[in-house]
Amino acid sequence: HAPMGVPRSASRSKNEKIDAKAEYAKRQGDKELINLVVIGHVDAGKSTLMGHLLYQLGSVHQRTMHKYEQESRKLGKSSFAFAWVLDETDEERSRGVTMDVAQTRFVTEKKMVTLLDAPGHKDFIPNMITGAAQADVAILVINATRGEFETGFESGGQTREHALLARSLGVSQIIVAVNKMDTVDWGQSRYEEIVKKLRQFLKQVGFKEADLSFVPCSGLGGENLTKTPSEPRLTAWYTGPTLVQQIDQFKNPERPVDKPFRLSVSDVFKGATGGFSIGGRVSAGYIRPGDKVMVMPAGNIAGIKNVTVDDLTAQIAFAGDHVTLSLTGIDMSSVNIGFVLCDLLSPSHCATRIRAKIVIFNLEVPVTRGYPVVFHYQCINEPAIIKRLVAILNKSTGEVVKNRPKCLTKNSSAIVEVEFERTVCVEMYTEFRDLGRFMLRSGGHTIAAGMIEEILQGKVQKD
Ligand code: GDP
Repeated sequence: HAPMGVPRSASRSKNEKIDAKAEYAKRQGDKELINLVVIGHVDAGKSTLMGHLLYQLGSVHQRTMHKYEQESRKLGKSSFAFAWVLDETDEERSRGVTMDVAQTRFVTEKKMVTLLDAPGHKDFIPNMITGAAQADVAILVINATRGEFETGFESGGQTREHALLARSLGVSQIIVAVNKMDTVDWGQSRYEEIVKKLRQFLKQVGFKEADLSFVPCSGLGGENLTKTPSEPRLTAWYTGPTLVQQIDQFKNPERPVDKPFRLSVSDVFKGATGGFSIGGRVSAGYIRPGDKVMVMPAGNIAGIKNVTVDDLTAQIAFAGDHVTLSLTGIDMSSVNIGFVLCDLLSPSHCATRIRAKIVIFNLEVPVTRGYPVVFHYQCINEPAIIKRLVAILNKSTGEVVKNRPKCLTKNSSAIVEVEFERTVCVEMYTEFRDLGRFMLRSGGHTIAAGMIEEILQGKVQKD
């Protein structure tokens, strides 16, 4: 599937091969890198919880915290101080809503954790999709307050949709932080009621029992986050791990470091010393300064001048790393968000039409031929239409139940063809698991999750 126009110079690039698995293991040392996304209904306390956790771990300076406290007191929102650790922009501060996927780092005993703080507001689910697409594991924050848990969990609440999205985007391990336990007197029966309902639901969504855990806590009070709890009403019945101890128990995700290089561009910006850089997460393979990459779907070649991992210059970056790459030999205007940097000799696929297996969630109007959707994939959201309904599948066996159906209803599983207005770079699920997944949204709702099975049409998009 090599695109047309792969230049002859490709073979002359510096891209020399290394034993990626061995190099990765060497760099790893004793701390495994893990990408964590925090999800849950708006106001569940996600920002407060994670802000307080970072504070207790010493990732936030006392002085910074003091400043945040003063600022938030001035606005009459002092309880938001911890959330401000994560909510960086002024707009978010005055609204008290986390909008973008902010990134922060912290270390635990065994892990180096990159925190992707996903927004909880309804309009921001596209951002949440980007966050979850980059995550290995999740913390689902639940508000234990009477009535509030119920609102978040019922249809229309974001608890269900977030959990579903996370699972569909490849997150397989999840911790449920049962938060605001102070508002229910640290009641054991309330905790157990919530655990029971969520356990059942999360298993339905596709999480395995062994990959699910629950921790009672209070983000605002800082109870049971990093220190053994001191609250007698909690210690009376809870002897389990703190939130951080539970984070330490996440299993290490498999990183496709020995696959061809892939990076979906999530940011393009001018460098301080001239030139320009791109930001994103390496989704497969590795990259080093001096390497050459292909920029798809345009098919241009760029050189890598500098590699930065977490603001530090690096000699190599691997799958799973969030990086900044400064590029040479290419114009800033020919790299857009959503473009893919990839291996020269085994580049990404360009597609205008794909065949995919989808699972349909909730729907008001059944899906028929020509149904318009937004295709959410890695860093992009592209207008698309469902061009053909190929077959309806049996949900558990995957066998074809009906060929060429007229429509697809909610909770069904099907094979469809999706057509894009423009060329997008995608991968097949069989080749790159993480890059083969996508979501379809329509009218502000997530209507389906899918796996790319085949590229039906594609061409290099010349700029
Ligand atoms: P987010 O929208 O999920 O990020 O929620 P925030 O972190 O912004 O918190 C929403 C509100 O809940 C704020 O007023 C917080 O002060 C409050 N809150 C957060 N955690 C707790 C908690 O553990 N106990 C109590 N009582 N309130 C909390």
